[in-house]
Amino acid sequence: MMTMMCAHWSSAQTRPNVKEFVDDLMARMTVQEKIGQLNLLPAGTIQTGVSENSPMMDAIAKGQLGGVLNLKGVKEIRELQEAALNNSRLGIPLIIGLDVIHGYETVFPIPLALSCSWDIPAIERSARIAAKEATADGICWTYSPMVDIALDARWGRIAEGNGEDPFLGSQIAKAMVRGYQGGDNQHFATDELMACVKHYALYGGAEAGRDYNTVDMSRIRMYNQYFPPYKAAVEAGAGSLMTSFNVVDYIPATANKWLVDGVLRQQWQFDGFVVTDYGAIAEMVSHGVGDLQACAIQALKAGTDMDMCAEAYTKTLEQSLKDGKVSMAEIDKACRRMLEAKYKLGLFEDPYRYCDPSRRAKEIYIMEHRQAARDLAAETFVLLKNDGQVLPLKKQGKVALIGPLADCKFNVGTWSVTATYQSGTLREAMQRALQGRAELLYAQGSNFCRDADIQENGAFYRTVPRGDDEQMKQEALTIAQQADVIVCAMGEEQEMTGECASRSNLEMPDVQRELLAELLKLGKPLVLLNYAGRPTVLTWESEHVPAILNVWFGGSEGSDAICDVLFGDKVPSGRLTVSMPRTTGQEPLYYNYLPTGRPVAEDTQKFEKFKSNYLDVSNDPLYPFGYGLSYTTFDYGELVLNSNEMSSDGSITATIKVTNTGERDADEVVQLYIHDVAASISRPVKELKCFERIHLKAGESCEVTFRITPDMLGFYDYNMEYVLEPGEFEVMAGPDSSFRHLKKTSFIVR
Ligand code: BGC
Repeated sequence: MMTMMCAHWSSAQTRPNVKEFVDDLMARMTVQEKIGQLNLLPAGTIQTGVSENSPMMDAIAKGQLGGVLNLKGVKEIRELQEAALNNSRLGIPLIIGLDVIHGYETVFPIPLALSCSWDIPAIERSARIAAKEATADGICWTYSPMVDIALDARWGRIAEGNGEDPFLGSQIAKAMVRGYQGGDNQHFATDELMACVKHYALYGGAEAGRDYNTVDMSRIRMYNQYFPPYKAAVEAGAGSLMTSFNVVDYIPATANKWLVDGVLRQQWQFDGFVVTDYGAIAEMVSHGVGDLQACAIQALKAGTDMDMCAEAYTKTLEQSLKDGKVSMAEIDKACRRMLEAKYKLGLFEDPYRYCDPSRRAKEIYIMEHRQAARDLAAETFVLLKNDGQVLPLKKQGKVALIGPLADCKFNVGTWSVTATYQSGTLREAMQRALQGRAELLYAQGSNFCRDADIQENGAFYRTVPRGDDEQMKQEALTIAQQADVIVCAMGEEQEMTGECASRSNLEMPDVQRELLAELLKLGKPLVLLNYAGRPTVLTWESEHVPAILNVWFGGSEGSDAICDVLFGDKVPSGRLTVSMPRTTGQEPLYYNYLPTGRPVAEDTQKFEKFKSNYLDVSNDPLYPFGYGLSYTTFDYGELVLNSNEMSSDGSITATIKVTNTGERDADEVVQLYIHDVAASISRPVKELKCFERIHLKAGESCEVTFRITPDMLGFYDYNMEYVLEPGEFEVMAGPDSSFRHLKKTSFIVR
């Protein structure tokens, strides 16, 4: 065992200045040790720990490891930290990272669902809770928030982000960083988690929605539409950032100097560290930009500090230094950033500060956190249709629950790697909700996909057959026949969404739709709970099913939250943050598109020859961005400006009266959009610029006033300069982004 030369100080001492501390430490480090700080390796399986004779222990002892990912548990993490402290020459603590994406053991709904709550304080709280739980279990760094704008629902990772809008995405990005990191981004408290904004950049722009695919985009689009959430997260003080797998301007993001060093560090003044995505430097070889050594050189020179799992830096940088292909200054810069991050996390002060075994019982999966997750989950469900007010259901008579998601054992949503509990399957939650009041009948009804298809292409559907479809259908029909109302739990399995889960067909799998059609023939009131990690195509369902509640994946408390809404204890208030298509062929589909020279009529969207439209489907989404019904109704008055003119450094207000015209107290999300009528570049037909989630009692009215300020009107022009050009602006406000539902007026900027 080596003696440490004390790479940390005791908490009784005053905290040294970060620069002096890091200077002093680096003066004592060898080149190999510096490169070692840039190396991040996986621990193997998350729940098991690292064995003593793992090669990782050797790397730690040699000072060749800066951090570890994919390990959970105070005991296991402490063992690694002890190895780093006691067995390596300088005793530099490890940074311990994990994908804590939508909660830790208390799992919140998937990020796409969370965004549909439009409830920024609650989203921030979800990150705060995740931070408390993760740090109570030894983790100090999370690979979240994922803020990639995604316009194409075929992309499975649309589930992990905040939808299609840059403004809303930016508000959420900031809230997540605040929630994880707390107040002081220079000195983390023991219950604060360092955020890692990802995937920088443009990962959501993968062509044809196929994961890891090429991205090719104009700079104007990057700056105006895709960059804002990353920038917002950086401005909120995110401690780190992860590069993306894709190319940006034909250069892999990980090695794109313009992107990392130029935009991120110089333009946005990012002062944290940059880590690659998993194995991304090695993947550059497949991208065809050189061998491992050449790729590592490019990545380091671009300003990418830490190599996640490719071991490209440890294998090649020393040689590249000898060959004069990288400089000591370049290695030093990266090493310094890693040490500064560890300093901010307080790891030099107390390397075991995140390893307090007494916290688990008090802080992880506790009732308070679970209740927050349940409340927020209920806010994420989007009521798409409710003809004849089928919903809310009464807790009486016989309720038949049918479908492959009804009693699904683990169904909390993609990227819940630390999830251990689930408050229950939907069937169990409904049983609890209906206890003593109504009888619950159940049948699985079908596989997720037709069993024959699964046999043939199981890997694609990532699901296993659980029985014979025909037999399950017959059972379901017999059960449903006895019921007063049918609830169908159908859609995507969680594994059909997320990373490497792109789909070319977004319809409900045939076997489920056939079952649904048969159930509808029974002529009973029927509710479809649509589970999904993306906007799916519900055109057939919207024509035939009376009530549709889109429930995404609701996290560990999701099933109870569904019951809260289904039986009317809570009123649905989620609003879509992605446009739901009529057919897969409409993708990519988004509300803030550019006008063409041959637009179709906004109000009718009717097909016209030689206009920009399809022969076989309208341009309109089935359900627009911002849309969602309630158990009450809202009426919008006229949109009134306090002035029809604004100076370019002034502001004006826009006010709209909203009335709850129904019988339930409820929340509404009032949205304000702006359109720049004429500018030096073509501007989107509308862009969300403000919103407010309000609560109105039945019959109550209120006036919502938005302040319109210059930053809402500006844009990045042809030279990537942020400008506000005078002229006419249209303002629209209402319950969703559809032109038909928005009240409109305009003003002039002088
Ligand atoms: C994903 C990242 C994730 C990383 C570490 C990658 O495959 O793209 O989002 O953070 O793995 O688990």
